[in-house]
Amino acid sequence: MLLPKKNNSNVDFLIIGQGIAGSVIALALIKAGYSVSVINNSQLSSSSKIAGGIWNPIVFKRLTKSWMADDLVPELISFYEYWEKEFNTTLIHQRKIIKPFTEEQEKKLWLKKANDPELENIFLDSQTYENLNIDEHYSVKSYSKVLHAGNLNVPHFLECTKNHLTDTQQYTEEEFDFNQLTVSDTDINYKTITAKNIIFCEGYLISKNPYFKWIPMKPAKGETLTIYSKHILLTRDIFNKGFFIMPLGDNLFKVGATYEWEELNDLPSEKAKNYLIEKINSVISTPYQIIAHEAGVRPSVIDRRPVVGNHPEHKNIFVFNGLGTKAVMIAPYFAKQLVHALQNNNRIDEDVNPSRFI
Ligand SMILES: Cc1cc2nc3c(=O)[nH]c(=O)nc-3n(C[C@H](O)[C@H](O)[C@H](O)COP(=O)(O)OP(=O)(O)OC[C@H]3O[C@@H](n4cnc5c(N)ncnc54)[C@H](O)[C@@H]3O)c2cc1C
Repeated sequence: MLLPKKNNSNVDFLIIGQGIAGSVIALALIKAGYSVSVINNSQLSSSSKIAGGIWNPIVFKRLTKSWMADDLVPELISFYEYWEKEFNTTLIHQRKIIKPFTEEQEKKLWLKKANDPELENIFLDSQTYENLNIDEHYSVKSYSKVLHAGNLNVPHFLECTKNHLTDTQQYTEEEFDFNQLTVSDTDINYKTITAKNIIFCEGYLISKNPYFKWIPMKPAKGETLTIYSKHILLTRDIFNKGFFIMPLGDNLFKVGATYEWEELNDLPSEKAKNYLIEKINSVISTPYQIIAHEAGVRPSVIDRRPVVGNHPEHKNIFVFNGLGTKAVMIAPYFAKQLVHALQNNNRIDEDVNPSRFI
């Protein structure tokens, strides 16, 4: 077990934000032996709080591997499993994703890709299946499965991380006030805290950050429903037919998600609710109850890559953001890369470095 840190006034890293980004980088730094202090206002917008938490190594549109899936998937499993042991709890569920075929052509393409050793043979099941009952009335005639997918229980992960940080006096619940920040070449000072470095992880609220608001973000609002049904027969696998239904246990299912680029706020909308209801009704004709309807804003970057690294003019000011639609999958790998870069004085990959926009 890691030794608790008792004083958060003098630390290696001050971290702003405790969504998936802030949590993952805080834990990666703690594991590497650094001291951290995390400031987060849990009343502000948080995409992580409502995320499905799914990792999916396949891009369905083109039936190709998603960016860096071969590296990201093993790293995410090793990261979350490590913290499962530390927190003595379950954080991830490895699952398959059921992909129904609507046309014969789709099935042919799937089989071609799944049987090509150079392509997707690790992630695409090379068998196809028939007749899967989703409820008493609807069955999928023909389908296959994405392998090595799953989900992180994000609310539980955030709660465990916050509890760990609070127990070790590394967490402050407040809105970060930029007027109280002073930066020199050697130190970061904020109220009573002196840090060697600061890492900003504010999700789409990066638009308010004077050091990084120039990063070209393209945030996307998304909404999910949580429904209760005794009739849905999915027990473990995630169902995906342009939207997802994920079993949460106890007859609860998370359904998502929508995309909206204009109205960026975390207020649930009737339009998105109706869209998701229409999707559910296309595969389920038995009764269900809507238990929750939530909205959040995904912090996506215009080139769809994360932004990880230091400010071009300040070596001690970092950003860890731009996790877009794939935070669960991307965060552990790039947190590790950032920690390695710090330890070895390496440069972060140009693909994700904020300097790519200069
Ligand atoms: C509907 C929906 C479904 C999704 N499903 C998935 C999925 O299945 N799989 C997946 O991998 N990703 C999914 N995502 C994307 C994922 O949620 C995001 O990429 C991820 O949560 C971003 O994490 P973050 O920590 O960067 O930002 P956030 O989660 O937004 O966290 C930012 C944190 O910073 C805090 N903060 C901001 N400014 C300040 C300040 N000034 N002072 C103090 N605190 C501050 C906020 O309160 C918040 O806690 C989904 C997103 C949506 C909207």
